[in-house]
Amino acid sequence: MVRFTVLASGSKGNSTVVSGGRTRILVDCGLSCRELFRRMKLAGEEPETLDAIIITHEHMDHINGLSVTARKLGIPVYFTEGTHRAWMRWLTPRRQMTYAQWLEQCRKQAAERQAEAPGEANAEGDPDDPEPEMVLETTPDASEQPESAPDPAPQAPSNRPPSRKEDPTWLPSVEYFQAGQPFEIGDIAVSPFTIPHDAADPIGFVFRAEGVRMAFATFLGYIPPNVKAQLQKVDLLLLESNHDLEMLRDGPYPWAVKQRVLSRVGHLSNLATAEFLETSYDGQAAYVILAHLSESNNLPELARVSAERALNGRASLLANRLLLAEQHEPLSGINF
Ligand SMILES: [Zn+2]
Ligand SMILES: [Zn+2]
Repeated sequence: MVRFTVLASGSKGNSTVVSGGRTRILVDCGLSCRELFRRMKLAGEEPETLDAIIITHEHMDHINGLSVTARKLGIPVYFTEGTHRAWMRWLTPRRQMTYAQWLEQCRKQAAERQAEAPGEANAEGDPDDPEPEMVLETTPDASEQPESAPDPAPQAPSNRPPSRKEDPTWLPSVEYFQAGQPFEIGDIAVSPFTIPHDAADPIGFVFRAEGVRMAFATFLGYIPPNVKAQLQKVDLLLLESNHDLEMLRDGPYPWAVKQRVLSRVGHLSNLATAEFLETSYDGQAAYVILAHLSESNNLPELARVSAERALNGRASLLANRLLLAEQHEPLSGINF
């Protein structure tokens, strides 16, 4: 049986289970491990039966629970090399410190060295230099308002290198794939394609199992021809409908963030999604799922009405069922 279960979708966490034959893949791991398992059980999915995790891009709402979950289940994680590197950079503890925290660490290390070698002069720089609090690396995807830190990774004591398990970037197994190069995970064929979004190497997918094709394309600034081509002849289409343009314009985000969301590497508006459905979509999917709806700049009803209008205007369509992916609860699994 083929099944597609959206566990969470939106700026506070994204995860979907794709099952086909004897294989189960988790697409993105943006919830904490505990919440992920809770939702899987709610949706009738067994966490222990997952075979692999595949990551679309390294923004927090897509990777938050990744290391804890992959370690707990002992399963491989599929990334593009660019996304894997970006994820590792993000998790490297030094990069997550504020400048003040870094100074504090220098101070502590100096104190430890002094304690070990009494009488030596303190060769450190001036630890009292009152620098303003400065974040060395900002949280990825600030516009998506990640509210929680990644699952806390174990910190290595400073006097020895971290062991494998203490290294926050350690995973049971890592597999690389590339956009444009289809591959298989067990019984599921995966076709990865590039999408325009402001991450290292963001990817959309078409999954195929037992002859059923499921397209997965959220978080994209616009729909370029290569993506349009991927979204044809599918049985299930999951597509972003992130924001209402007026709500975004009048909403709470700072100007720079609004510009980013609207840019060609930002997010798809209800209008852009409707335009695609009206003019470029072949209408073959049995299910269309609108995903990654903004909680600040969209309303489910606006997204639904906009997409429904676009679909209803087309007499040639088969029975497209329109569903909305939720942030706070799983959608019940779609069986084929
Ligand atoms: Zn996202
Ligand atoms: Zn993103």
